Formats: sequence, C-alpha cells, structure tokens
Amino acid sequence: MKPAAFEYHRPDSVAEATTLLADLGHDAELLAGNQSLGIIMANRLATPDHLVDLNRVEELSGYEIRDDEIDVGAMTTHRDLEFADDLRDVMPMLPEAAEQIAGPSVRNRGTLGGSIAEADPAGNYPAALVALDADLRVESTDDERTVAAREFFIAYMFTDLGPEEIITGVTVDREPFPVERTGMAFEELKRAAQTFPTVSAGTAVRVDDPDADEPVIEEARIALANVADVPLHVPDAEDAVEGTTLGEDALDEAAEAAIEAADPSPEMHADEEWKVELAGEYTRRSLRTAHTRAIND
Ligand SMILES: Cc1cc2nc3c(=O)[nH]c(=O)nc-3n(C[C@H](O)[C@H](O)[C@H](O)COP(=O)(O)OP(=O)(O)OC[C@H]3O[C@@H](n4cnc5c(N)ncnc54)[C@H](O)[C@@H]3O)c2cc1C
Repeated sequence: MKPAAFEYHRPDSVAEATTLLADLGHDAELLAGNQSLGIIMANRLATPDHLVDLNRVEELSGYEIRDDEIDVGAMTTHRDLEFADDLRDVMPMLPEAAEQIAGPSVRNRGTLGGSIAEADPAGNYPAALVALDADLRVESTDDERTVAAREFFIAYMFTDLGPEEIITGVTVDREPFPVERTGMAFEELKRAAQTFPTVSAGTAVRVDDPDADEPVIEEARIALANVADVPLHVPDAEDAVEGTTLGEDALDEAAEAAIEAADPSPEMHADEEWKVELAGEYTRRSLRTAHTRAIND
C-alpha cells in the first residue's frame, strides 16, 4: 500500500517547525529518519494531512560534550552516535545502545528524537536515557521545557509530548559518571538481525576506587527495555548492589528485583514467563559487564 496523500513542509529552523505545528495542529506529523513513520503511513495506520520534515533543521543535529553534561540534538542519527568515539569515552552507553539498533540502513537514517517520540518500550534509547536519568528538551511556539526521561514515557507508546511540541534534544549530567571510576553497558538479546530486542538492559556502575582490592559500588543505574509497557527503571536492583563489591548474593538480589518489577507483554517468539526470566538474567549480565569496565577500563 502507499501512504495517503499529504502536504509536505520543509522548515529550516525549530522556530519555523513549531510555528507550522501550531498552525496545522492535529493534522500534522513530524518526519525525522522515516524509519518508523514510513511503515506506519504505508500501512495507513497514520494518515496525516501534513508532514513537517525536520531534516533541514541543522540546529537539531550533532552533540556537544561539556565539562558537566553532554547534549545530543534530536536529529542526530543512530549512525552519528554509533561512531561518536569522543562520546563513547565519556558516556559509552549511548553509542553502545545506538550500534545495536537494527542494521546499517536503519541506523543511517533513524534519529534519537524519532526513537524517543516513538516510545517503543523495546527501544534502545528510551531504556538508556531512563538509566542515565537524562533530561529531554521539548519546544513549542510558546514554551521551552525540560522533562525527565523517567517521567516522559507514560504508557505503551504514549508520552508526555503535546501535539504542538518538538523534542529538540537530550541532556545527560556527567557528574555521577566520572570516567575513571565508571563502567557502562547496554546489553540485549536479539532474536535476529533487523529486529527489536527481546529484552535489553542499560546499566551504569560507579565504584569508589577502581585500584582497590575489592572496589565497592557507590552508585548503580539500571533500566530494562521490553519487559513492561514503558522503559523500566529498577531502583530496587540498584539498591541491591550499591555498597557491595558485587558478589553473587548482591547479583541474585538485583536479578530478583528486576524479576519482581517486570510486567512484560508476550510476543510471538517470547512468552511472558521467559521475558521475566530474561529481565533477571540481563540485569545480572549488564551489572557484571559495567562493574568489570568500571574497574578495568
Ligand atoms: C527493521 C527495523 C528494526 C528496528 N530495530 C530497532 C531496535 O533494535 N532498537 C530501536 O531502538 N529501534 C529500532 N528500530 C526503530 C528505529 O530506531 C527508528 O529509527 C526510530 O524508532 C524512529 O526514528 P526515526 O528518526 O526514523 O523517526 P520517524 O520514523 O521519522 O518518526 C517516528 C515518530 O516520531 C515523531 N518524531 C520524530 N522526530 C521527532 C521530534 N524531534 N520531536 C517529536 N516527535 C518526533 C514522528 O512524528 C513520528 O511519529 C527499528 C526500525 C526498523 C525499521
């Protein structure tokens, strides 16, 4: 099937794009990498009268690494993040989440903002951003606001974003993640290439002293994808490992906390029971990886 007819708009700035959204209201849809919207429109599950293409809005692309935070624009592609070596040095969870999305063709075009707006509970960035406690920047003609990723994802593919708002970017505070004492991991189980993961886990671990005989975890961050209707932050798993040297008891307790918190929907290739089990297993694995990296990298 082909998409229904629509009118195409190509703004050059955020101001122009938000004005278009304000004027066109519910009849308009933003277009970013077109990796999800194209499929939805081709199947006529969405039939917007107007498409507002963000691809010429240069101010939305790219990232900046500041002393205290990193800032990534909404139109930054998965590929840009995958190959961002300087970003990998300071906030490795984002490039590691990006490089595991689909295949090269999707990563070449798909964007951070599109993925956040789509709010698929299996999406890589939503889980990573919840784990990192990122802030999302959102703009309309009459307002600019910041919303915590942990509050943005409300229900299955339903977010805090208003119809006249654009996600302009993401900010992550660097203070909790000093490079020399922090390890991060984004680990996923993928049934096949070019599919969303069955389960994935974004984890960060900061230790007190990486050179100590038994470094103690000062802070842990864990969020899981595709085991609930929204990316799932698991504070009880974090509590289970903080103040420990990540022995087997702490790992068991963290895995149990993830199992308790998980409330997944069954899929064709993964029933609910298995996904709950995987929530525990990927919590355990990603914690181990992040901890090892905090000590050795
Ligand atoms: C085969 C395949 C496999 C995939 N596998 C994965 C995977 O493993 N992990 C994963 O995370 N993702 C996966 N994806 C999704 C992929 O990451 C998409 O690129 C992404 O979800 C949508 O981004 P986009 O830039 O293409 O957005 P588009 O498709 O252009 O838009 C998607 C939605 O977001 C809205 N939107 C876009 N930008 C903004 C903005 N700045 N502000 C507000 N609203 C906006 C649009 O209006 C639209 O409703 C897969 C996609 C495909 C086709």
